Amino acid sequence: MTDATTTDVLVLGSGIAGCGAALAAAREGASVLVATKAQQPADASTDWAQGGIATTRDDPESLKRDILAAGDGEADPEAVDALVGDAAAAVEDVLVDTLGVPFDGEEGFDYAREAAHSAARILHVDAATGHHILGPFLRHLDAHENIDMLEDAAALDLITDEGAVTGALLDRNPRTGDRAETGVPVFAGSTVLATGGIGDLYRRSTNPRGSTGDGVAMAALAGADVTDAEYVQFHPTAYDDADPFLVSEAVRGEGALLRNADGERFMPDYHEDAELAPRDVVARAVAAERDATGEVRLDVSPLAFAEEFPGLAEACADRGVDWETGIPVAPCEHFLCGGVAVDTVGRTSLDRLFAVGECARTGVHGA
Ligand SMILES: Cc1cc2nc3c(=O)[nH]c(=O)nc-3n(C[C@H](O)[C@H](O)[C@H](O)COP(=O)(O)OP(=O)(O)OC[C@H]3O[C@@H](n4cnc5c(N)ncnc54)[C@H](O)[C@@H]3O)c2cc1C
Repeated sequence: MTDATTTDVLVLGSGIAGCGAALAAAREGASVLVATKAQQPADASTDWAQGGIATTRDDPESLKRDILAAGDGEADPEAVDALVGDAAAAVEDVLVDTLGVPFDGEEGFDYAREAAHSAARILHVDAATGHHILGPFLRHLDAHENIDMLEDAAALDLITDEGAVTGALLDRNPRTGDRAETGVPVFAGSTVLATGGIGDLYRRSTNPRGSTGDGVAMAALAGADVTDAEYVQFHPTAYDDADPFLVSEAVRGEGALLRNADGERFMPDYHEDAELAPRDVVARAVAAERDATGEVRLDVSPLAFAEEFPGLAEACADRGVDWETGIPVAPCEHFLCGGVAVDTVGRTSLDRLFAVGECARTGVHGA
């Protein structure tokens, strides 16, 4: 049990990035406090992630090439090297051995294909992969003797001392649970921002409510470098509604086709990889065809949609969408590629402040 107002490591956020950072620190023997705004697991994008996790399989070089191409030449090769170098071991150690995530596949993994990937290399659990990772991860951390979890506790501001970050102000007291409008200080040897994306700043986003870029804002206010914030990824196939839901890229990976209001398939005119071109290319094409013809639908007739994507078929049914006539789709804010600038081990420009996950600008995503 940690003394909750001082801790070795304070992690802000409980998506996959915060959970991963907490686990790594606890394994090194540090006392860890995870303080999260989430009231339930579904308050993190991680819980909503659908299609799955890209792995290197046996070919890290080909994943590296694909990442650099999808980032439009703006990604940092050194950061991509760190990702492809560590990916397989991290998946094996944390997701398979530690958490026992039940990835699909009878003998070995069933690798799926997604856009911008030249090979089938996506590990998944149905099309609800994030949900099957985050629940076990939170339970694992809950049971860890070095880790305390504090839910429904937003960080309001970082505490600084002579240019170093020494903790954060939370809106709830870790000891008593009491609310405090001006914030309760928690002092930490290291503070890790893991607060996710910025979707809630947009009219339409795939992200859960509460994705308001808090970590990026707190870091900027404390004087940390924030870069590439203009690189925001728009997902091409979100249900065309004021309250959208994501139709995973994996559906196009399995053969679904994009058609305009005239019923014409248009992606081959835009890119040689057609529906499996990088997301920015497909999103721009969908927007252009919507402007020109009024509507774009995702034609799922080439696949056994209800069998292969039962969760999405259910989401369509819940919203009264007859997927047999195609799902109306439009681009929608999805992922922040920039954010708090970090090096390949998550260090920000401020001493003792780290950033991980979507709030971090690692250099992997490029444009
Ligand atoms: C619908 C959807 C589908 C996706 N599908 C895929 C996919 O198939 N494959 C893939 O690789 N990626 C996918 N993504 C992207 C991926 O889910 C995210 O990039 C990833 O989950 C981000 O993890 P994170 O831990 O950085 O942030 P999140 O999972 O969003 O977690 C952020 C955490 O920070 C907390 N928080 C926020 N502000 C504060 C604060 N002030 N104080 C304390 N805590 C705070 C939140 O409550 C939350 O717990 C998808 C995203 C969405 C929305």
